Amino acid sequence: MGAYELEGATGPWEVVIGLEVHAQVISRAKLFSGAATAFGAAPNTQVSFVDAAFPGMLPVINRECVAQAVRTGLGLEAHINLVSRFDRKNYFYADLPAGYQISQFAHPIVGEGRIDIELADGSTRAIGVTRLHLEQDAGKSLHDQHPSKSLIDLNRAGVALMEIVSEPDLRAPEEAGAYLRKLRSILRYLGTCDGNMDEGSMRADVNVSVRKHGEPYRTRCEVKNVNSIRFVMQAIEAEARRQIEVWESGATVTQETRLFDPARGETRSMRSKEDAHDYRYFPDPDLLPLVLEEAWVDALRASLPELPDAKRARFIRDYALPAYDAGVLVAEQATADYFEAVAKGRDARLAANWITGELFAALNRTGRSIETSPIPPAALGALLDRMADATINGRIAKEVFEAMVETGQSPDAIIDARGLRQVTDAGAIDAAVAETLARHPDKLAEYKSGKDKLFGFFVGQVMKAMAGKGNPALVNAALKRALDAG
Ligand code: ADP
Ligand code: MG
Repeated sequence: MGAYELEGATGPWEVVIGLEVHAQVISRAKLFSGAATAFGAAPNTQVSFVDAAFPGMLPVINRECVAQAVRTGLGLEAHINLVSRFDRKNYFYADLPAGYQISQFAHPIVGEGRIDIELADGSTRAIGVTRLHLEQDAGKSLHDQHPSKSLIDLNRAGVALMEIVSEPDLRAPEEAGAYLRKLRSILRYLGTCDGNMDEGSMRADVNVSVRKHGEPYRTRCEVKNVNSIRFVMQAIEAEARRQIEVWESGATVTQETRLFDPARGETRSMRSKEDAHDYRYFPDPDLLPLVLEEAWVDALRASLPELPDAKRARFIRDYALPAYDAGVLVAEQATADYFEAVAKGRDARLAANWITGELFAALNRTGRSIETSPIPPAALGALLDRMADATINGRIAKEVFEAMVETGQSPDAIIDARGLRQVTDAGAIDAAVAETLARHPDKLAEYKSGKDKLFGFFVGQVMKAMAGKGNPALVNAALKRALDAG
């Protein structure tokens, strides 16, 4: 990619970005209690005494949440720390009944890893992951339920989160978008987080600074809790432009926490560094250090599914797909599975084209996902087979495809009912050619006088005369014969 930079009054500026992503762990129970975690339950119906911080209650670590964090670390090719520790992060807020959040500060469960992102020009860049740690989520304050009071829902209190921190390696809004999409894809393949940003199960804090090329990093600001990839990209651009203006006015950017207002497309200050919390971290005395057995970690490693990068490489190698198409197909596991079901024993590139072209358009139009596709893989496969055995041509196939979306019928049923079989009969094709040439004597004369480009026009007219059902290769050949002879 041509290096992204923003133009200021003093020339170009480079943008430096690091992301802190909070990803809610998929687990039936919370990090330190047995309470349920289902999304959308009635307020305060999934709260144990531990979550409500009743005196004397003790946290007990949930083995499944630990396994999920380790799986995620392995999926990010990260170092797994066999010994980690939980700390108390102290602050007072109405939705935090204990007055502290249990988190991992000095000794996270996962250390350095990486995420490879693919850029628009087809190149790949490795983005460093600094760490992944486990922590509890807080409850939720509801401000719109009562005219004068805020209500508290503790269902989310104690749910396990993974905080995944990147190095400040990202250099453009698009790179941040690609990083989040790739991370979400990996989490979904692993089944460790559903990546659903609308429901808040994945949210990002966006750290942004700007600098002149070749300089050390300058002061960053953190834009908190951005809940869509589009907003992350918009927030970066808005915040970077703001900082450039500050520097160019002769002032200095001060480190602070800001919020992005999508309606106005700008960030505004939430709190400055001076107001930053002093969390008084200390090891949680109720919890022993978390010690993992190497064999257990190895067993988790051995049970990981094939991840998007490996699958993409395999699709390029085994199906001879262009890198871009392979990347699109592996983004969601369900799409990759769909593709493989269609491609098996068929022209894989053609299968890829139909899926990323016609099928994606139809899903978009009908508001369906690949899991609820109106056309199952076997039916799309059958359609490709009817092209391969020359029952229909590519143009008619699109018509059949649309009818499949509308009616849910098989391609064969539609081809038969509508009489769409391709015409290969030489007599019928020659007749259509003769008729077409007779109808356009002027164009024929132009062609004869050297206007070769008219060949395409004649092909179109012959096809039209045959209601689109002529075999394209045979039509071309017959037309060429007739024009050369006459
Ligand atoms: P803190 O402990 O204050 O949160 P960290 O070192 O953990 O600080 O960094 C938090 C995030 O900020 C990381 O994602 C990191 O990549 C990013 N970051 C650090 N320095 C910069 C910078 N100068 N510009 C942009 N992002 C930065
Ligand atoms: Mg941090």
